[in-house]
Amino acid sequence: MTDNQLCYERATCSHCDGEGCLYCDKTGSVLVRAPKKPCRHCDGVGCFYCGFTGWAGLKGKYD
Ligand SMILES: [Zn+2]
Ligand SMILES: [Zn+2]
Repeated sequence: MTDNQLCYERATCSHCDGEGCLYCDKTGSVLVRAPKKPCRHCDGVGCFYCGFTGWAGLKGKYD
């Protein structure tokens, strides 16, 4: 077992509200580190820090 086995869960993309867009790869949702919490920089609105998804701990970005 490795100790970097983080848990992720699906969260609705705040940029498109689930419609699907560039930032969520047209899926309408993104994988974020569990427990999911809104980006502290933009309060879930979407900004540079959260990849415009509105969520903190976005998978891929900080892996
Ligand atoms: Zn989206
Ligand atoms: Zn943000």
